[in-house]
Amino acid sequence: MKAIVRSGIAAVVLATLAVTPARTFAPLKVVATTQDLASLAREVGGDKVEVTALASGKQDPHFVDPKPSFLYGLGRADVLLVVGRELELGWLPPLQTSSRNAKVQTGGGGYLDCSQNVRILEIPTAQITRAMGDVHPLGNPHYWLDPANGRIMAQAIRDKFIQLAPADKATFQQRYADFDQRLAAAEKRWDATMAPFKGTKIVTYHRSWPNFMDRFGLNVMGYVEPKPGIPPSPSHTLELIGDMKAQNVRLIVVEPYFDLKTPNSIASQVGGKVLVLAPSVGGTAEATDYIQLFEYNVKTIAAALQQVTGK
Ligand SMILES: [Zn+2]
Repeated sequence: MKAIVRSGIAAVVLATLAVTPARTFAPLKVVATTQDLASLAREVGGDKVEVTALASGKQDPHFVDPKPSFLYGLGRADVLLVVGRELELGWLPPLQTSSRNAKVQTGGGGYLDCSQNVRILEIPTAQITRAMGDVHPLGNPHYWLDPANGRIMAQAIRDKFIQLAPADKATFQQRYADFDQRLAAAEKRWDATMAPFKGTKIVTYHRSWPNFMDRFGLNVMGYVEPKPGIPPSPSHTLELIGDMKAQNVRLIVVEPYFDLKTPNSIASQVGGKVLVLAPSVGGTAEATDYIQLFEYNVKTIAAALQQVTGK
């Protein structure tokens, strides 16, 4: 009889522990729209967070097909990290609404637009018209491809985590400081690798790379797309080939989700090279996290530039 009473009490105690909303024990549930944000969240959050990403690193982040698992994740999330600047405009808002989770609505307590304090390029100065293609009125949303912006994004994520789980503040601060240090050391290496190619002109398929190229001193002189989001056209391709020949431009950088047919044909006519780089973590097997993304892209583009410039 005594034993039964005692185990009864134990059961009540266990049940009470299980339902106590103890933030210190349960990791924050984080949903990130892209693998890059997910990687930064893992760097800062460690085992205090449980992170899932919606888009894969091989997908065009402007166009992501929603899966049922997205809604499940968003419905129970404490935090939603977005790239913002309208990158996810075509697919995320209906998912936020359908999740019925107040925390992840735009402006909700768990919502974080990671573009708040970063350096944004290509903010349009003129009135935007449809004829300009898919131009983003809030500037180029591919800003995570500058490691200096990655640092600022990690700071914003750290501050959001601290706000939502203050008991783990010291962990988030320490993990951010560690990331910051590793990133700074890596940036020195990347800058040294890219230094010989400063000022080299290149072409990219989409406008995914202004931050990356600006950071590492390369000049994007043209695009395979005639306008952002518009597929290649014969007249634009012809014009681009003429410009590339005139300016001796021989490298075309392509994102993994575009057809290589037009870039290959341009490269063969200018005696150049097509290079597929990873715009996101997971875009290639080697880009396993945010720092490795740059490790891969810097190493790969430096090797290609060496080939086409002879430097
Ligand atoms: Zn874009």
